[in-house]
Amino acid sequence: MDPAILHILGLVGLFVQAFCAWIFVAVLAALREPQRGRGEARSGAYGSFQQAFLALALALSVMSFRFWPGRGLSDQNPYWQQGQLAPTACYVLYMALKGWFGLCLVRGSYELRGGGSPAWLRTWHWPVIALMAATPLAVPYIDPLLIIQAPVMVACALLALRGHWPLRSRDSGARIVAAGLASLALIWTFHAGVELSSQAWPLRKPLISLNSFIDLGVQLALGIGLVVSLLQQAHRRALEAEQEEARLRRELEKDDKLRALGTVVSGVAHELNNPLTVILGYAELLQESCVDGTAAILTEQAERCRGIVRNLSALAGQSVHPLEEIDLEQLARRVVRGLSPELTSEGRGVWVDDMHGLHLYADRIGVEQVLANLLSNALDASPKGGVVTVRARAVDDGVELVVLDEGPGVPAGDRGRLFEPFFTTKAPGKGTGLGLSIAHAIVRAHGGSMRVEGGPAGRGSAFVTRLPLHGSQDPSGRPPAAPLPAAATQDGLVLVVDDDPAVRAILLAQAKLRGWRAIEASRAEEALAAPLAEIDAVLCDVRMPGIGGAGFYDRLVADSPQIAARVLFMTGDLASPQALAFAERCPRPLLQKPFDFDNVFERLAQIAAVQAR
Ligand code: ADP
Repeated sequence: MDPAILHILGLVGLFVQAFCAWIFVAVLAALREPQRGRGEARSGAYGSFQQAFLALALALSVMSFRFWPGRGLSDQNPYWQQGQLAPTACYVLYMALKGWFGLCLVRGSYELRGGGSPAWLRTWHWPVIALMAATPLAVPYIDPLLIIQAPVMVACALLALRGHWPLRSRDSGARIVAAGLASLALIWTFHAGVELSSQAWPLRKPLISLNSFIDLGVQLALGIGLVVSLLQQAHRRALEAEQEEARLRRELEKDDKLRALGTVVSGVAHELNNPLTVILGYAELLQESCVDGTAAILTEQAERCRGIVRNLSALAGQSVHPLEEIDLEQLARRVVRGLSPELTSEGRGVWVDDMHGLHLYADRIGVEQVLANLLSNALDASPKGGVVTVRARAVDDGVELVVLDEGPGVPAGDRGRLFEPFFTTKAPGKGTGLGLSIAHAIVRAHGGSMRVEGGPAGRGSAFVTRLPLHGSQDPSGRPPAAPLPAAATQDGLVLVVDDDPAVRAILLAQAKLRGWRAIEASRAEEALAAPLAEIDAVLCDVRMPGIGGAGFYDRLVADSPQIAARVLFMTGDLASPQALAFAERCPRPLLQKPFDFDNVFERLAQIAAVQAR
């Protein structure tokens, strides 16, 4: 082929290469910008690749300038002849920029893998560039310079490829980049071979001229690979953002559900706790005279109702039970004994491991509820003859209670939703989706946490509950009350204030049974008019018409603080914001209905004893 045509072809290839390199510099800059704003870890790698393309674009531009028609190889212009200052300066720049290009490729590949730039690369960066820049001073001709450049380019491509390894299969952009790097190594080996081949070989000249087109292909592979990789990242980010948005929407819906539930619970608790107090009170009185067990059944059933209300309160994050010392193994055995026989049918059973005397300070009823819910789920999931194991061990500042089963396990997709209220995979009528959310709410109220893991050897599931040694559950945030002095008297005068006549009646009957004298008031205003100075203790409801328990307490604090110190509050509703706010600010003890009457009168007696001193 005519050498002039070959020369023009070579030049066109060079210009197109330079043009493409500049385009990639601009595209990479545009795609990288949003990443930089987000402080993305891989942004550094793309920065290095962008620098590599910038160096390449500059190098090719310098060479385009050098070989611009009129200053070409055959040019007679004395200033641009081989070995003169102008072309040598261009070669110095070109070689330095090509060194920079190669090193940036290596750095970017290492950074893309997430390991950061290796130390040896930082050490060799400037020496390599300086050495490359110095070669044209010794050999100011393009052909030998290309031969000298070849091993550097091959080494950089291979090192970059090594930094790129292992390839993550899902990132096809990274695979294209790797292919580009491998081609870069091959093409420069080939190019050096052609340059070193015999001058007589007829294909030598055409191959050298066409080299820039092959180079262009390599550059396109590299650039496109990087752009694809960046676009894939942008796509992944968009997907992640979508998933995050969906998750937040679910959280909001859950919050809405919980808020609605809280309002319902407030009403239900108030409506049910008063009658339950009355039923439990009379059942207890009946037990004295009734021998056929009817009263015991009545008490048992009323206590079941009390459990339901407590669960609902716990779910709404609004339950208060006294904290007490718990022997974990004893508690576990008690819960296992109380499981319904249906759950342990067909040979299913529960094994309670030795818990080495582990104790913790928590709400006993709450922890029992947590374990009962976990056990009932575990037995439900167990195959015939399956064994559920309960284990506990001490951890940093608490205990970890593990319930292990041999069931099918929890699918990974369900794990994130297990503790959501109303999430169930059971058939309608079999599951409510409340068991785990109630357990979780109780544990959270103690400052603990719950998680689910796969069972050992990939079989079954393990529900792990972490509880602090000292539960933090108390809406007022107060530490557990110090034990009161022993009751000195049980024949004092108690004022019972409650708007529900049935509650007043049972409290009066229970007081009488224990030797107390009692007077009653149906409202706080009426109680304020009672002969307060003669009263040893006051048992007062919080939620009542008029000024209510809170107004009653405020008046007492203002007018007769010594009487305010004799009040024991009771409430059937700790779910309403007003009741919670009062519990938080009032230092007086607060009992939740329905209560244990022995406990109520013991505390009243203790108050009376303190006042009598
Ligand atoms: P319910 O038991 O009424 O469905 P829960 O809140 O107790 O409600 O449980 C929610 C869901 O968690 C269950 O429907 C079940 O899919 C899953 N689950 C709970 N415990 C286990 C377990 N031990 N093994 C497998 N899945 C479980």
